[in-house]
Amino acid sequence: MTADIQVTRALFDEVMVPNYAPAKLIPVKGQGARVWDQEGREYIDFAGGIAVSSLGHCHPALVNALKTQADKLWHLSNVLTNEPALRLAKKLVDQTFAEKVYFCNSGAEANEAAFKLARRWALDTHGEHKNEIISFAKSFHGRTFFTVTVGGQASYSDGFGPKPGAVLHAEFNNLDSVKALISDKTCAIVVEPIQGEGGIIPGDAEFLTGLRQLCDQYKALLVMDEVQTGVGRTGKLYAYMNYGVTPDILTSAKSLGGGFPVGAMLTTTAIAAHLKVGTHGSTYGGNPLACAVAEAAIDTINTPEVLNGVLKNEQIFRECLQAINAKYQVFSEVRGKGMLLGAVLNEKYKGRSRDFFLAAAEQGLFALVAGTDVVRFAPSLVITEEEIREGMRRFEAAVQQVTSA
Ligand SMILES: *Cc1c(COP(=O)(O)O)cnc(C)c1O
Repeated sequence: MTADIQVTRALFDEVMVPNYAPAKLIPVKGQGARVWDQEGREYIDFAGGIAVSSLGHCHPALVNALKTQADKLWHLSNVLTNEPALRLAKKLVDQTFAEKVYFCNSGAEANEAAFKLARRWALDTHGEHKNEIISFAKSFHGRTFFTVTVGGQASYSDGFGPKPGAVLHAEFNNLDSVKALISDKTCAIVVEPIQGEGGIIPGDAEFLTGLRQLCDQYKALLVMDEVQTGVGRTGKLYAYMNYGVTPDILTSAKSLGGGFPVGAMLTTTAIAAHLKVGTHGSTYGGNPLACAVAEAAIDTINTPEVLNGVLKNEQIFRECLQAINAKYQVFSEVRGKGMLLGAVLNEKYKGRSRDFFLAAAEQGLFALVAGTDVVRFAPSLVITEEEIREGMRRFEAAVQQVTSA
């Protein structure tokens, strides 16, 4: 028998691969937008597990769905289908442009499926020459080798040997840069409606409309990566609905499971037909536990009260951030939509987003960064006004700490 393990932050450095640098505290409990660490210290959560905990921590609807399903059936693999997966797929199809759904376990996997499908569709319908994928500088699509190569940060894909080919990068919000690259060889344009990891940069309506037109003109597929923007985060079920621009393939994860790992790729019947039996798959994808939780998340989020609440919360966030900025002059702008907001540091504080993030944690607030120049907020969609105002008091203390240092 081994003695009981002492779980401390030092144990992380001892036993974990060093690809992360987590904060010093270790959270042990969460409720709504509040989290408590091993010492019992309380934090307000404006990070939401990076835009994942869409209904906060331990929302009763999700806890109930998980516990109910846990007593019934956990896993089958895809040699059998299951009720929660079919119900979730039906709801996604009913509420979006899509007619078919593929389930997986993460955003990267949803994008991997999307990119493989786009390539296979182009091969089947146009021939081998049509294989180029155009994506954007600063974009983020996951960490598998294909998705990280399509992503627009070479530092994430360099250093692992030869990369998947036929991937081109244009400038976000610059249609001319896309026109310079697009051709009959293009099979897909891949875009986040709001670039998340890249710095909370909203796509312009004309830009996204223009991408749709270019895809139609060159018979390429428009793939929207809504892993971060999806499932209510911008006040619509999916962000494309804000623009009136319909993709051919959409990927979803993060908020979809509200904290339980699940991903989905949505598309039309005609395009889906090219993923024939045996062409792609996942052992866990669409498992009953994940789909039961995601179904409860969709049911709870896709209501006028919650979606309108997201926009109301955005207003409170913006007012509070403006008030803080009026006092301390740290931001040049606040951008993004709904509960996906980025406070952009001005010249004086450029490059110091991590300082604000660390000071916030010291003051009892979880925030996020998006690159070195943006402090990002991606809290629960149903965060209460009281939680927002308390979190903002702590954020102000963090801003004061950084600016007075
Ligand atoms: C987080 C994210 C991904 C990757 O999702 P994982 O679940 O970490 O694989 C892909 N695309 C976007 C836009 C994201 O924000």
